[in-house]
Amino acid sequence: LALHKVIMVGSGGVGKSALTLQFMYDEFVEDYEPTKADSYRKKVVLDGEEVQIDILDTAGQEDYAAIRDNYFRSGEGFLLVFSITEHESFTATVEFRQSLIYTMETGGGKKMHLSCAGREQILRVKAEEDKIPLLVVGNKSDLEERRQVSVDEARGKAEEWGVQYVETSAKTRANVDKVFFDLMREVRGK
Ligand code: GDP
Ligand code: MG
Repeated sequence: LALHKVIMVGSGGVGKSALTLQFMYDEFVEDYEPTKADSYRKKVVLDGEEVQIDILDTAGQEDYAAIRDNYFRSGEGFLLVFSITEHESFTATVEFRQSLIYTMETGGGKKMHLSCAGREQILRVKAEEDKIPLLVVGNKSDLEERRQVSVDEARGKAEEWGVQYVETSAKTRANVDKVFFDLMREVRGK
């Protein structure tokens, strides 16, 4: 059974947990504990093939080194989430992406070298391609009247990075399945 790992990243309050719980249980959870990180597992059918998806819902106090080590254990991708109602959360995606790239490229020194010789090679390739499987997700699309980030601005940034931009609503479920499934396809294509 193929395993796909998805890591939710983004500022607090953008809807990472709400998207995860909507995907997992088909319900909109309004008051999920903001500091709680958790992981979830589910069997889904991806293009006719049964696969397992593992979702790590982060909550801001993560050790990126741990995420990176995890990343190399299996094919993984990231949903880089912001809220269309909060421009700052969009600006933050630039930093989140940079820290992901930095984490992947630097590889954490000693431990990395000792644990697996092949990793240096992998890291070099990653650095060259500069291509971590990720989707930029503009959540809270149901709150159009409070929009602070235009589709053009978000799409422009995603194009610059060579990735897809998708708007979602954890409340209405719009595009929720799409972002998880499209990301799994990205990861599988690697
Ligand atoms: P996290 O910190 O990124 O995990 O954010 P949460 O999932 O805890 O969501 C923060 C707040 O935004 C909660 O009150 C959610 O109910 C609300 N929220 C999350 N997603 C949406 C959405 O798509 N639409 C609306 N209207 N509210 C949302
Ligand atoms: Mg959360």
